[in-house]
Amino acid sequence: MSEFKTLRGMRDLLPEEARMMIFIQDTARRVARLYGYKEIITPVVETYELLAAKAGDEVRSRMFAFKDLGGRDVALRPEFTASVARLVATTFKNEAKPFRIFCLGSVYRYDEPQRGRHREFWQSDYELIGASRPEADAEILILTDRLMREAGLKDVAMKIGHVGVIRGILSQEGVDDREQNAVMQLMDKKEYGSAISLAEKSGISEKCVKVLEQLVQCKGNSVFEVIDRMKELAKDYGKSLESVENLKQILDLVTGNDDVINVSVDAGFARGLEYYTGMVFEMFIPTLDIALGGGGRYDKLVELFGGESTPAVGVAHGLDRVLLGLQNQKMTPKAEGRKTVFVFPIKEEQRAHALRISKLLRDAGIMVEDEVMGRKMTKALEDADRRKMDYAIIVGERELKEESVVIRDLKKRQQHTVKIDQLLNELRT
Ligand code: AMP
Repeated sequence: MSEFKTLRGMRDLLPEEARMMIFIQDTARRVARLYGYKEIITPVVETYELLAAKAGDEVRSRMFAFKDLGGRDVALRPEFTASVARLVATTFKNEAKPFRIFCLGSVYRYDEPQRGRHREFWQSDYELIGASRPEADAEILILTDRLMREAGLKDVAMKIGHVGVIRGILSQEGVDDREQNAVMQLMDKKEYGSAISLAEKSGISEKCVKVLEQLVQCKGNSVFEVIDRMKELAKDYGKSLESVENLKQILDLVTGNDDVINVSVDAGFARGLEYYTGMVFEMFIPTLDIALGGGGRYDKLVELFGGESTPAVGVAHGLDRVLLGLQNQKMTPKAEGRKTVFVFPIKEEQRAHALRISKLLRDAGIMVEDEVMGRKMTKALEDADRRKMDYAIIVGERELKEESVVIRDLKKRQQHTVKIDQLLNELRT
């Protein structure tokens, strides 16, 4: 038989990386609690129809889709938003607004594997449902910034745009939704020339072409200057202008924060998922050219799943990329400084006693490994030493008669006898 390997795009996280991943997940959960987001757990497998409904061609074409044994068309979730929108349209229909939902788990996309791009990856997802005001958009941006910083990343930067700016212009020029989606997909890939040509084919005016050509150049860190230029360009397009104003209000809130977030505005910035209706954003760090997270406003999504018209804004963070970013920046979270103990019975007769001592230690929160290989003491202690354990507790007949055991400091290579009822004190000091 040939040697088994993981599937292409799938990978194992071994203890060191798994520990970092869990640290990042713990951070995401802590941030969710700090902002009042309630965690829910949704299925990995959903109907194809639900997941495909508004995912955008890009994600749709990369879904792990199959027929289950009952002949149903199903797929592995490529993101959480569709599942959350399903709940908002059904179970949470009568929930008082606003409400805040948090999901954390693995998602699946048949992407071309490369650095930071896998077919199974982890996301933390925050959705703020029922609020249309800029404060809600700002909350999502600010909590994202906090999560990235608390995970330990440095020099986090945020790129912000607003799909309403370009869509507003295209709508006014009579470009229908389907054609707009195709234009936005090209914009998402930064193929601005092709995007504008496509819009031209849909019949936009010459003036509009000029406006779009200049708009996609509007970007930079002097966010309010960029906003002014956008306003000037969009001045004849009512809906587009409203979108620029909305973006400005969000930026006012975000940059007015004590901990000023490093933001830049990019007027031609679109995102692959079709459901966005307003502000969109992505997070970056200098050493990685791929986004660590992204999100935005999607006011029409819940309606699409049969719910009432419900404004919503959310974000998904790519936790594998946060991990990669931490590795790039050499920011390993500290290992737990807890003591580790190996418990060794000298003879078979002391096995049950040894287990009782292990229990006593574990009840006090100490990590204990028991001897399970039936080895001689020298071998077993050498092994505990090699695995960098702190102490060995040696349980022998003679000591047990005096309610004692031997404690050996594996680092200092010293040992002495201690009464069992003093053992915890001894380990704590
Ligand atoms: P999206 O739902 O496409 O906005 O993705 C949200 C975040 O998930 C992105 O910003 C990435 O950080 C992460 N992500 C997307 N695709 C992948 C992938 N194939 N592998 C790892 N992370 C990904």
